[in-house]
Amino acid sequence: MTRPLRATIDLSALRHNFGVARHHASEARLWAVIKANAYGHGLLRTAHALAGCTDGFAVIELDGAIALREAGLQQPILLLEGFYSDDELPDFAEYRLTPVLHSLEQVQAIVEACLPGKLPVYLKLNTGMNRLGLNANEFRAALTALQDSSQISTITLMAHFANADADIAVMPDAIATPLETFATLRRKTIHSAGLPQSLANSAALLRFPETIGNETDWARPGIMLYGSSPFPEQQTAEALGLCPVMTLSSALIAVRDIGPGDTVGYGATFTADAPMRIGFVAGGYGDGYPRHAPTGTPVLVEGRRTRIIGRVSMDKICVDLTHLPDAAPGSPVVLWGEGLSVDEVASAAGTISYELFCAIAARVPIYEVG
Ligand SMILES: *Cc1c(COP(=O)(O)O)cnc(C)c1O
Repeated sequence: MTRPLRATIDLSALRHNFGVARHHASEARLWAVIKANAYGHGLLRTAHALAGCTDGFAVIELDGAIALREAGLQQPILLLEGFYSDDELPDFAEYRLTPVLHSLEQVQAIVEACLPGKLPVYLKLNTGMNRLGLNANEFRAALTALQDSSQISTITLMAHFANADADIAVMPDAIATPLETFATLRRKTIHSAGLPQSLANSAALLRFPETIGNETDWARPGIMLYGSSPFPEQQTAEALGLCPVMTLSSALIAVRDIGPGDTVGYGATFTADAPMRIGFVAGGYGDGYPRHAPTGTPVLVEGRRTRIIGRVSMDKICVDLTHLPDAAPGSPVVLWGEGLSVDEVASAAGTISYELFCAIAARVPIYEVG
């Protein structure tokens, strides 16, 4: 028997979730955000599964973008941080990639480059996240330089929200304030009139129709495509109509009985206060399961909910079987996915699904269904 830990990727769930994004976007077009190896789901697998429905793919990695082209994908590809040095620009031209320009240095590099053909670009404006993007005093100069350049085909104005997932009761202006900043920036120059725009990530797409725009505009859903809620404290993925794409599953490889006072695992962080039956799951932080998931983090054994106990090891996780007398070596375990929302596990571990997905280790075998 091989080690039972595996990740199963449900491609029909992925396409279903894309359909939910499409429904919310109405007229606007969609970049399927597949950066970071499609949030751990596999870049080419995800791209091929969405090729028939998406309008384009958004990534961070130039090698990933080239891999998409070499795999025959023809859609527009957006590079969310653009290029890191101007010697990447010939690849942008050769592979028809759309860079996001977030700094004056990038704008200058592209207008001074000598490219074989025109490139479409995104110009990123800072609307308050204060991470990447041009400020008011840089925007007009950047736009003028791009519009005067013979290297540029289309210009799309872009911004990214810091708080699209916020609890609106606590932060009522989470979207209104950056939207107003964006509109003010656009008004700074007549030359921005009529340019298409791209603002919404998953959270904005699901909750703020005023961020989406019309048929010339683009939204950029990521996490929702993978079946996780962008604001799990407020709405579950299920309530949003999203289905889990990745199921991280395994099996028990051992069970034992322990008594009051016995401890479990490294650091003896868990002590039994009564007779208990415990089991060991093949899987640990060496596979991407979060080491900081505490005792009490939910897990399914034989389809029934129980909890992990003690410290997560590199290769093993201990689970409480006291109320599951039939569980035995070989019993199936779900760490997250079908039947147990990744958002619940992430919340118990003090993180977000994005981090859990991205952490899936190279040693985890991947199976596709759907
Ligand atoms: C990652 C990313 C997205 C997708 O965000 P989700 O929260 O996963 O929907 C959209 N836009 C930019 C600029 C990003 O970096």
